[in-house]
Amino acid sequence: MVLYDIIIIGGGPAGLTAAVYARRAGKRVLVLEKDALGGQITWSPKVENFPSVLSVSGAELGNRMAEQAMEQGAEVEIEEVSALEKTEAGWRVRCLFGAEYEGRTVILATGAKPRMLGVDREEELVGSGVGYCAVCDGAFFKGEAVAVNGGGNSALQDAMLLSEICDRVYLVHRRDSFRGEEKLVEALREKENVEFVLNARITALLGEDSLTGITVEQEGESRELPVSGLFVAIGHEPDNGAFADFMDLDARGYAASGEDCRTRTEGLFVAGDCRAKGIHQLTTAVSDGAVAALAACAFLDRQG
Ligand code: NAP
Repeated sequence: MVLYDIIIIGGGPAGLTAAVYARRAGKRVLVLEKDALGGQITWSPKVENFPSVLSVSGAELGNRMAEQAMEQGAEVEIEEVSALEKTEAGWRVRCLFGAEYEGRTVILATGAKPRMLGVDREEELVGSGVGYCAVCDGAFFKGEAVAVNGGGNSALQDAMLLSEICDRVYLVHRRDSFRGEEKLVEALREKENVEFVLNARITALLGEDSLTGITVEQEGESRELPVSGLFVAIGHEPDNGAFADFMDLDARGYAASGEDCRTRTEGLFVAGDCRAKGIHQLTTAVSDGAVAALAACAFLDRQG
């Protein structure tokens, strides 16, 4: 079996940046991605805060990052990792469908998954009106009324995208002000088919086989919104459980590490949105990728 210098788990911005840095340091690198290269950013319709790029779709940015990592010689496999095991040489990485890979070091860059609302029947209605990615599924609701839940940049961007496709967009948020960028809030205020539903919580999902409406509690009153689509954009949470034997997790499940992205276990590094840190942004994910790769390279070089 090939012994890779660095196995990177996760092919989003953090993992792909780590791959570029590690390849440029001459290391043999494997990136394992369970879904599509590019990670969460590929769901962003427009990215306007990545240095040097005025405006680009998240999908294009993700593609470019993947292309760059492969051009530099990183190997890529589409595999979902299920477990890590310590070996004499470093690590054995086990995948869901039986594949195994060996690496001297591992960088975990597994990102985060969309947070669920936690309302009754949410799981049952996923794909039948309830969704987490307006870029992926918005077009199914052309000409219809939809709701977006959340107050961060994802929710604001989703509402903007859906306002171009749908007849009506309700933006439901639990506070009276948004966490996302003021520029986006202002642009949405200008839209005639967008209604802000503030200080409101979604309490029920209506409809038998597919969504026909939602109930919101707004300042003590109950209100029904007739929507066929609900996009939940209330943030993300990490999925680090499978690796908890080798690193400390904070109360929310994020992986603890030093500024150099080292975990408490030798040869295991962590980068991007799965890592505990103050700011989870595209730029900080990319930064982590570089830091983790260089720390892994230094570790390998010390080992000889
Ligand atoms: P976020 O900024 O964490 O916002 C999550 C929103 O959901 C908050 O408004 C929060 O409300 C609300 N929320 C959380 N739990 C909730 C619950 N149980 N019920 C109802 N509402 C709930 O998440 P995000 O919008 O996904 O963004 C994540 C990060 O990616 C952010 O740093 C964002 O700036 C960045 N991002 C960047 C771009 C880009 O173009 N570069 C695009 C999208 C996202 P409270 O405000 O009350 O806490």
